[in-house]
Amino acid sequence: MKKELLKKLPKVDVLLKNEELKELILSEGKEPVKEAVNDVVESIRQDVLNGVITDEISMDKRISGIIAEIGTKASKEDYSTLEGVINATGIVLHTNLGRAPIPRRLVKKLSDCLSGYMNLEYNLEKGARGERYEHIEKIICEITGAEAAMAVNNNASAVLLMCSAIGKRREIIVSRGEQIEIGGKFRIPDIIKRSNAKMIEVGTTNKTHLSDYEDNITDKTSAILKVHTSNYKVVGFTDSVEREDLVKLAHKNDIPVIEDLGSGVLVDLSRYGLRHEPTVQESVAAGVDLVSFSGDKLLGGTQAGIIVGKKKYIDMCKKHPLTRAMRIDKMQALLIAEIFAMYRDKAYAVKNIPVLSMLTASKEELTLKAKALKERIGKLPANVSLSIIDTENLAGGGSLPDEVLKGVAIAIEDSKVSANKHTANLRKADKPIIARCEGNSTILELRTIDESEFEIVADICRKEFK
Ligand SMILES: *Cc1c(COP(=O)(O)O)cnc(C)c1O
Repeated sequence: MKKELLKKLPKVDVLLKNEELKELILSEGKEPVKEAVNDVVESIRQDVLNGVITDEISMDKRISGIIAEIGTKASKEDYSTLEGVINATGIVLHTNLGRAPIPRRLVKKLSDCLSGYMNLEYNLEKGARGERYEHIEKIICEITGAEAAMAVNNNASAVLLMCSAIGKRREIIVSRGEQIEIGGKFRIPDIIKRSNAKMIEVGTTNKTHLSDYEDNITDKTSAILKVHTSNYKVVGFTDSVEREDLVKLAHKNDIPVIEDLGSGVLVDLSRYGLRHEPTVQESVAAGVDLVSFSGDKLLGGTQAGIIVGKKKYIDMCKKHPLTRAMRIDKMQALLIAEIFAMYRDKAYAVKNIPVLSMLTASKEELTLKAKALKERIGKLPANVSLSIIDTENLAGGGSLPDEVLKGVAIAIEDSKVSANKHTANLRKADKPIIARCEGNSTILELRTIDESEFEIVADICRKEFK
């Protein structure tokens, strides 16, 4: 019987001459269609061999729908292995999962602009060449209180640029307590070395005093660098110098203070139940001459390294040849301008920028979300138990390192299948879900699952836990 059925399989080259598929080739390209034809024919063959298709009626039925099946497959076929995933880890700034999700209204604006041209470097009023940074500078200055601003591709490049433009083969003073590695080989001493400036280390790991800086300022000093120790904390007998004092000392000696602020918070997080994180505005107000921070950490936007500060020093950065090598593209320019505009109303920003709304979500809100998702999942078989549990979440991305957030999760335990197997399967779902195991439970953290994703999460869970 199998042999008879297999004889009915259409030939690939015959299929490719089908009129509908010829049209599909025009819209999707030849390769994806050819691949889809091969895949579909092969999958029917396998179904026959494995006894899924056992008689002529079901064989004929499957073959009569073959063109449609190929069409669906070809238009779904995707060469890119990049895809959207559901973050059920509870880690808000998950560097492996692309850090900050972009606010929806920005995505809409971006998609409206991207398929056509943009006035990226064109001044519509003058009808002449414009400046890429003009679109972002005014709004960044308005929000941060800085005199001038610019942006490069990410904060790592921003730090390298600042040290290169200001350091100029002279000396940069850094505290030993701030010689950090951020991860991905980004180490402050290496960056300074690359910038061709000489690093002068002062103080000790746990204590650096103002006099440590003062004693090391010479006529070779080009700047004092301050670094936010984002992802680690020295606790106990510690001391570091206040920004204001550092600025006073530096300015008395006619040198600037530059600061790598890391995350770049624009709102006072302590007003939302989190620990206070130094804001960009505080650095600017303290008189720091150049401050850099990431665009996709607590700011909640796209990857970028934003630099704000005194015009004199921003101009030195803008003129530096590295700026061209690190420049932002049109997507980043648009997203930076738009995310800063959202901060005109701080409460609005906290509510509508996903990173901030997720970070500030209370335990009560998360519990409500957990109940809603549980309801959507509905009844599961007897071997599966679902419960709502208290957990602990992290901000991630080197931000708020010692802040443990109260989390709420759904824990699903299956007496027949291991949680390891389940989490592996969830990663392979149509929309991959990234969850963790705890004992034999699969844990889905509500903090990082958006309500708009509930339906698909519930759907996938029902299929997985059976
Ligand atoms: C994250 C971080 C960086 C690197 O920023 P990217 O935008 O990821 O390049 C640099 N410095 C500090 C202090 C950071 O926290």
